[in-house]
Amino acid sequence: MKRDFAPTLLDFGSLQIYLARHFGFCYGVENAIEIAFRTVEENPGKRIFLLSEIIHNPHVNADLQEHGIKFLQDTYGNPLISFDELKSDDIVIIPAFGTTLAIEKKLNDLGIQTEKHNTTCPFVEKVWNRSAAIGKQNYTVVIHGKPKHEETRATFSHAAASSPAVIVKDMDQARELAKYISGEKPSSGFYAEFEGQYSVGFDVTNHLQRIGVVNQTTMLASDTQAIADLLKQAMISKYNLTKDNAEERFADTRDTLCYATNDNQTAVVTMLQTKADLAIVVGGYNSSNTSHLVELCEKKLPTFFINSEEKILSSKEILHYNFYTKQEIATSNYLPDKQIPRILLTSGASCPDALIEGVINKLVEFFRSSKNFSDLLQSMA
Ligand code: SF4
Repeated sequence: MKRDFAPTLLDFGSLQIYLARHFGFCYGVENAIEIAFRTVEENPGKRIFLLSEIIHNPHVNADLQEHGIKFLQDTYGNPLISFDELKSDDIVIIPAFGTTLAIEKKLNDLGIQTEKHNTTCPFVEKVWNRSAAIGKQNYTVVIHGKPKHEETRATFSHAAASSPAVIVKDMDQARELAKYISGEKPSSGFYAEFEGQYSVGFDVTNHLQRIGVVNQTTMLASDTQAIADLLKQAMISKYNLTKDNAEERFADTRDTLCYATNDNQTAVVTMLQTKADLAIVVGGYNSSNTSHLVELCEKKLPTFFINSEEKILSSKEILHYNFYTKQEIATSNYLPDKQIPRILLTSGASCPDALIEGVINKLVEFFRSSKNFSDLLQSMA
């Protein structure tokens, strides 16, 4: 059956909001939060740590901290609390992104049972399994992901345990990797260019002869597909293959995005077919999947990336995040001066629904609307 990705119209009379059909919390995030709170409830008096942010949402992380959970590392793996302070009866929760084998071993060596409080999302584990499967068939695993992102670091570590592995962060890097495959670039340059992104013992001459591409589950689907196509073509050209026998050198992994990323991205692409004045995307500023929704929207119309309704300062001014410069900026007159403005709205997989509701309520306040949000919901029920 064809699935419906059309946005939902919330018609407030003097304001129209189109809400993406799929937005917000995914299975992996809900599961991780539930396990974290259950762990607190079931272990009174115990010290409970999270390896790093459980998901990329400041509100959820703050809530966990208020319940006494402490973070061991920041998002980039920098220590906040030394592992030396841990004792064997402490609890350490592994976040939804998973973690590296080295960290898992370190914790196990301290006597901490990581498997009991492991919230690694099954869709992330699926990528690890896919990597292991192609690794066993002697393909090198190329990971399309952000090299510093927890999930990519974890996937890289798991992939590197069974095969050579290299990370490409974007299309530009994929093009450079293709030049090492074709021989256009001398292999000696690879190690500096991909520093910190290849596995120990990586031999660029031997390890780019058979490859397969997997991705961080939250990348932009179209980017991963384009990167896989480019690298496949590089293998076809180098080894005189055809599309029919390309699998001799290029593993057919298809994309390894999770369902939530796929659904949220498809819903945004469909929502963008609706003519509107602006888009608002809600989510944590360091959330990969949210930033990709912003990327999709800003190609079509003015887009404001905010992490809560508090960033909507007034009907005249909004504070929003520019993820290219990594700065929050203020924009004036973001709402159009017209009869019935149309706003597209969505949120990332780590954003609680309450934040979307807060944004809607805030926007509605600015208009002499015929309906408020709860009346509207009742009339739609
Ligand atoms: S975005 Fe996907 S992979 Fe990540 S936690 Fe959610 S369901 Fe899992």
